[in-house]
Order: sequence, then structure tokens, then C-alpha cells
Amino acid sequence: MKPTHIEHIGIAVSSLEEAIPYYEMVLGLKCYSIEEVADQKVRTAFFMVGQTKIELLESTDPEGTISKFIEKRGEGIHHLAFAVGNIEESLSELSLAGVKLIDQSPRKGAEGLSIAFLHPKSTFGVLTELCEDKNKK
Ligand code: ZN
Repeated sequence: MKPTHIEHIGIAVSSLEEAIPYYEMVLGLKCYSIEEVADQKVRTAFFMVGQTKIELLESTDPEGTISKFIEKRGEGIHHLAFAVGNIEESLSELSLAGVKLIDQSPRKGAEGLSIAFLHPKSTFGVLTELCEDKNKK
């Protein structure tokens, strides 16, 4: 497998309403989409920087992973997402290489991407996501 670029960086925030003005007014980026991903118990806000996105993640459930992350570690960088050409192939290669997978097979993420997470125990502490944009094909 070979990632083509960093698809996005996921950042856990307590409140999208409070965080978005920083990205828009201070950094000068434009929030182009706000989307709820019920499956992951989050609301997301997206900003484009070159071909990489910033994905702000706000929890919609006190029991959700983002709530727990913020409780434990505070707001901040939550995960790193690589774009790959073929996510199924990438997952089986990684699995063969001994990488622990959180998702054995891809699921639907924000923006209609196919996504899968790798376990931070196998990735030197970085929660890593793979993304394939099947809409593009
Ligand atoms: Zn993500």
C-alpha cells in the first residue's frame, strides 16, 4: 500500500460553534461542510487546506469516543487520515504485516468516503484512518 496524500487531520473539539470561528476568522479557512455521522456519534466540520482537510469532531453522545478522548486528554489532534487507492487491499496488506485493525473491513465515513481505522498500538500511538473516495471512480 502507498498513501497518496494526507486526506485529513481529525481534531477533537468540545464545541464546533466555538472552534469554527478560530479556523475561519483567525486562520482564514472556510468551513465548507458540517455533517453529522450518526454511526460515529460525531458532528464534523470540514476545512480545505491544499488537498488536505481539517476535520473538526464534536461529540453528540457523552459515551462516544470523542467525549471520552476529550475527557482523558483534552481537545486536540485525534487522528491522521491517509488517502489510499484501494482500501480493501490496503487493509489486507496491513493485516498481513501484523498491524492491528480496528475495522476489519471499510465502513462509511463523512463525505461518503470508505474509511477504516488502524489501532494506535500498532502505529506508534497515532490513531490512523485510511480513506478511499469511491465517488471519484
Ligand atoms: Zn477522520
